[in-house]
Amino acid sequence: MADGKDCKCWAHGECECGCGADWTPQEIYDLRSKLKEAEEKISARDGYIGNLESHLKTTEQRLFQAEAEKDDAERRWSEIADSLQKKISVYEAQEKAWLSRIVVGDMDACGALIDALKIQGTKLKEAEAEIRRIKNG
Ligand SMILES: [Zn+2]
Repeated sequence: MADGKDCKCWAHGECECGCGADWTPQEIYDLRSKLKEAEEKISARDGYIGNLESHLKTTEQRLFQAEAEKDDAERRWSEIADSLQKKISVYEAQEKAWLSRIVVGDMDACGALIDALKIQGTKLKEAEAEIRRIKNG
C-alpha cells in the first residue's frame, strides 16, 4: 500500500510515522510497473531481433553454399564444354585429313585417266597412220 494508506498511527508523513507503513508515492510504483513493461517489451524485441539475426545467418550460409554449388556446377560445365570442344577439334582435324585424302585420291585417279586417254590417243593416231599407209599401198 503506497502513500502511507496503510498507516495505523495517524501520521501525516513518513517522518512522523512509527508503524512502518509504506510511504512510497504511488507514482513510483506506477513508474516501476511501466519500466517493467518496457523492459519486457525490449526483452521480447531483443528475442525477435535475435531470431531475425539467426535466420539471417542461416540464410547467408545457405546463400554462400548455393554460390559455392553454382561455382562448382559452372566449373564442371566449363570442363565438359572444354572436353567437347577438344573432341570436336579432333573430329574436325580427322575430317579435314580424310577429305584431303579423298581429294588427292580423286586427283590421282583423274591424272591416271588422262594419261590413259593420251596413250589411247597416240595409239589411235598410230593406227590411222597405219591404215593410210596400207591404203596408199
Ligand atoms: Zn504510521
